[in-house]
Amino acid sequence: KQYRLQDKSLSKLIYTQPSLLTPTRRDVLVLTSWLAPVVWEWTFNIDILNEQFQLQNATIGLTVFALKNYKEYLEQFLRSAETFFMVGHKVNYYIFTDQPHDVPQIPLHDGRKVVTLQMPSFERPQDISMQRMEFISIYSKQRFHKEVAYLVCSDVDVTFQHKVGVEILSPLFATLHLHFFMAGRETFHYERRPKSQAYIPKDEGDFYYTGSLFGGSVAEIYRLTAACHQMIITDKINNIEALQLGESHLNKYLLYHKPTKILSSEYMFNKKICFIIASLANLNNYKEHLRLRNL
Ligand code: UDP
Ligand code: MN
Repeated sequence: KQYRLQDKSLSKLIYTQPSLLTPTRRDVLVLTSWLAPVVWEWTFNIDILNEQFQLQNATIGLTVFALKNYKEYLEQFLRSAETFFMVGHKVNYYIFTDQPHDVPQIPLHDGRKVVTLQMPSFERPQDISMQRMEFISIYSKQRFHKEVAYLVCSDVDVTFQHKVGVEILSPLFATLHLHFFMAGRETFHYERRPKSQAYIPKDEGDFYYTGSLFGGSVAEIYRLTAACHQMIITDKINNIEALQLGESHLNKYLLYHKPTKILSSEYMFNKKICFIIASLANLNNYKEHLRLRNL
């Protein structure tokens, strides 16, 4: 049986009926107090999500920065993304680099392309963290909104280890930083000096989000990156630099603009501490389900 909607055919899907008295997970938080889902393995059916996403006929943009010697990470990043990132969907890889001629050419599946965007190099390593916000905001306004529905903004020094699909997409999503998985808010690496725009007092804060993976609709990512860029400029004028640079500003923004979806730390794997966390949280199969790996 086929259902027709917006000229797209949806095929019949067979799956277990949702049961109101059977939670999908008992061991982890799957919904925040502002009703944003927290995405963990076994909380979603990717076939249903893929079918629903096909109706939008949307392209997903993946922004990544590779300046100076971080260009070395590009090839394995792109190869792993072709294997695991948004399989079966249309993807534009937006690669910001100071060395456009060194972007590797790798075979891409249908509907996927690499767009190289040249940008100037930077003086201090800290600057790239700041410039990322500025460049994503400029290009969101000028270009991305015409080409993609969603943006996913990632570090380049990671590889995809398992499938990362449309389950992550939402108007505004961010990823739980693995280091602060079980930590109290007062220990988060938020900026604690009131002089900085990124300042968060000890009695505020939901989660500590990583600056390595976040995203959303182009409109929301424009707002987020433009706001973070503004905060960074103000800090510069006031002669202060936030503790974790762009990540501090991202955390400040997300405290007052709550994300509509949260990716569990499964999406941010750092091999050094994953074992500790797996034992703390008693998540037996945690390791197998980590989706991204820090290099
Ligand atoms: N980056 C870059 N060149 C550099 C340093 C950083 O292109 O010399 C980009 C790259 O995309 C990297 C991101 O900035 O993934 C964040 O830097 P890094 O991964 O070193 O930060 P960390 O993951 O240690 O917080
Ligand atoms: Mn990194």
